[in-house]
Amino acid sequence: MTTQVKHYIDGQFTLGEGQQQISVTNPANNEVIATINAATVNEVEFAIASAKKAFTTWKEVPVSERARVMFRYQHLLKAHHDEIATILAQETGKTFEDAKGDVWRGIEVAEHACNIASLIMGETVENVARSIDTYSYTQPLGVCAGITPFNFPAMIPLWMFPLAIACGNTFVLKPSEQDPMTPQRLVELFEEAGAPKGVLQLIHGDKTAVDVLLTHEDIKAISFVGSVGVGQYIYKTGTDNLKRVQAFAGAKNHCVVMPDANKQQVINNLVGASVGAAGQRCMALSVAVFVGEAKKWIPELRDAIAKVRPGVWDDKEAAYGPVISPAAKERVLKLIAQGKEEGAECLLDGSDFTVEGFEKGNWVGPTMFTNVTTEMSIYKEEIFGPVLCCMESETLEEAIEIVNASPYGNGTSIFTASGAAARKYQHNIEVGQVGINVPIPVPLPFFSFTGWKGSFYGDQHAYGKQAVRFYTETKTITARWFESDISEAEHHAPNMT
Ligand code: NAD
Repeated sequence: MTTQVKHYIDGQFTLGEGQQQISVTNPANNEVIATINAATVNEVEFAIASAKKAFTTWKEVPVSERARVMFRYQHLLKAHHDEIATILAQETGKTFEDAKGDVWRGIEVAEHACNIASLIMGETVENVARSIDTYSYTQPLGVCAGITPFNFPAMIPLWMFPLAIACGNTFVLKPSEQDPMTPQRLVELFEEAGAPKGVLQLIHGDKTAVDVLLTHEDIKAISFVGSVGVGQYIYKTGTDNLKRVQAFAGAKNHCVVMPDANKQQVINNLVGASVGAAGQRCMALSVAVFVGEAKKWIPELRDAIAKVRPGVWDDKEAAYGPVISPAAKERVLKLIAQGKEEGAECLLDGSDFTVEGFEKGNWVGPTMFTNVTTEMSIYKEEIFGPVLCCMESETLEEAIEIVNASPYGNGTSIFTASGAAARKYQHNIEVGQVGINVPIPVPLPFFSFTGWKGSFYGDQHAYGKQAVRFYTETKTITARWFESDISEAEHHAPNMT
């Protein structure tokens, strides 16, 4: 029995009438678990029209009432936490622990959206000129859209719609077609939280649906998370159609290991951050640069990574699951083969790996290369698989040069016992999120997710105060009120241009 995935359009859950069918598969065995009737152009346009209509009333709902929807929503998400994580694990192949983390990181953003009244406050200055005050309001934009990737089907949609909607916008979500059932559950719970009809719309599909969102005049802002090529396309097409766009794209995250670091901490952290979640995290550490004598730890790191065992989502001993699709597996295996051909030393090769009873799954075992150079394909391309590339440098300065030469800038970490080295690294590194003895420095929602360079196109980032700026427009008012007995002379406004 396969499930039929539902769109949520104009307050109704519907299978849709699209003729193009998309199969959703279990990555552990590639059996079809659900099907989608991809949204037609008409269905996407209807969703946008319904969201536009809902905006006229939702933007007038008092901010504390909008916050109350978020309070109910975060409560419902918590109450259904394990149920959502189970759906998520089944369609992504993630281990249950990992799936729970995906849901929890999303819930934290919904919690943050409960603070909307404080977040959305404007600014005031009294007496900018004699008896004249200036103050600003932040007002919603209208209909916003979100296009999300497969790798965090709970967290990333939740980066977007709770804050956009709390700001007074309405929202059309187009999640990844590879794991659509988690977002569907998120939307069902949003309805249960009391969001009025039309405020949130859910459409499933691929490029056809996305292209309607990118070009439709009633979409005011687009939030995207996904791969580099698609991110560039979304940013260029969205801005070309005069929309506000934030596009979070691919990554290649480096860590720098100093010889004074705590060896065991480095090894423990690197194992999880490199091959954990099958390397399918945009903040995964996929390159480790060992400075000086730290390179002596590479054999021990190899032994630790060799012990990692992938498995199915409900296997409590499994460290990570399969990659998302046969195409993803093929891409990872091709890059591993290229790494060997191009002269990197393969210390661990997970190309020929399977899990008993799940031989048809998209398995890739833990893989590790040393002597990687910046010209190699395994260095230049985002592998998005459980593969760690190791490099060496003589000095911290040389390591910083390597990291800064990368076109990406999502996340990075330094492992060291030296405050001076850490300070130099945090100050000079051209990467938007820096960990100091912290392997995956994803900021909590009161900060923002601040990727740089080729990992992000736009200016205002996801969640935190920046998301509120992204989803609102500022209106600045300059006001003067005359008292009835004001003298003739005081009627002349000062020159304020
Ligand atoms: P993807 O780019 O293939 O898909 C993302 C979304 O774009 C999906 O909803 C998909 O349907 C849509 N899409 C795909 N091709 C399209 C096209 N040609 N035209 C219009 N829309 C299209 O990404 P993915 O494989 O689902 O996700 C993995 C990627 O996401 C990795 O590169 C990863 O680094 C990146 N990612 C980045 C961040 C970040 O914060 N920078 C976070 C998570 C994931």
